[in-house]
Amino acid sequence: MDRYRKQRIRMVDSQIRSRGITDPRVLKAMETIPRHLFVDEGLMDQAYLDSPLPIGEGQTISQPYIVALMTEALELTGKERALEIGTGSGYQTAVLAELAERVFSIERIASLASKTRKLLDSLNYFNVAIRVGDGTYGWREESPFDAVIVTAGAPDIPRILLEQLSKGGRLVLPVGDRYSQTLIRLTRLSEDVNDVKKEDLGGCRFVSLVGDWGWKD
Ligand code: SAM
Repeated sequence: MDRYRKQRIRMVDSQIRSRGITDPRVLKAMETIPRHLFVDEGLMDQAYLDSPLPIGEGQTISQPYIVALMTEALELTGKERALEIGTGSGYQTAVLAELAERVFSIERIASLASKTRKLLDSLNYFNVAIRVGDGTYGWREESPFDAVIVTAGAPDIPRILLEQLSKGGRLVLPVGDRYSQTLIRLTRLSEDVNDVKKEDLGGCRFVSLVGDWGWKD
C-alpha cells in the first residue's frame, strides 16, 4: 500500500463522486492509479489536490475531476479501441488503459512522450501505443476508434477525428477560445460523418491544441 492511498481515496470521494461521477470502473481506476507518479517529485504532495499541475514544457496534468468527467463520457466497457490526443503526463492515458482494450495516444512534444512511455512501461501498461506527432490528424492506420478523447483545447471540432470514429463511437473534447472552452461529446450515429449527436458537458479550461487542425502556434 503506498503512502498516498488515503489521499487518493479521499480525492475520489470529495472531488469526483461528490460531483456526480457514478461509473464504478472510472471511480475504481482513479482510486487505484498512483497519480503522484505522474508529476515531478517536488509536486507529489500536491498530486491529489483539486487542480491541474504543471508537467513542464508549458503543459499540465488535468484536474482529477475533469479526467473523470471526460472518461465517464466515453462510456468505456473494456472492449474499446481508444484514441487520445495529448498524452502529456500519461495520467489520463493510464485511466484509459485500465478501462479500454487498447489505447493509442499522440503527443506533439517528444520529451513528454518519451518520459511518459517509460513511466507507463514501469507500471505495466502494455496496451498503450504512444506516437509523437500532430494529433489533429488522428491515427488513421489504427482507426476506426470506439472512443476519442482530446485533452487540449480546440478552436473547432477536427473533422478528421470524426471520420476516424466508429459508428456509435464517442468523441469528447474541449472546444472554444484560447482561454476557456466547453466540453463537448459527439456520438457518431451512422456511416455519414455529419450524422452526429452533440452534447454539452460544461465549461473547462485547457492548454491549446496546437496543430494543423488546431491552433497555429
Ligand atoms: N491528459 C494529459 C494529462 O493529464 O497529463 C493532459 C495533458 S495537457 C492538458 C495537453 C497535452 O496536449 C500537452 O502535453 C500538449 O503538448 C498536447 N498537445 C497539444 N496539441 C497537440 C497536438 N496537436 N497533438 C498531440 N498533442 C498535443
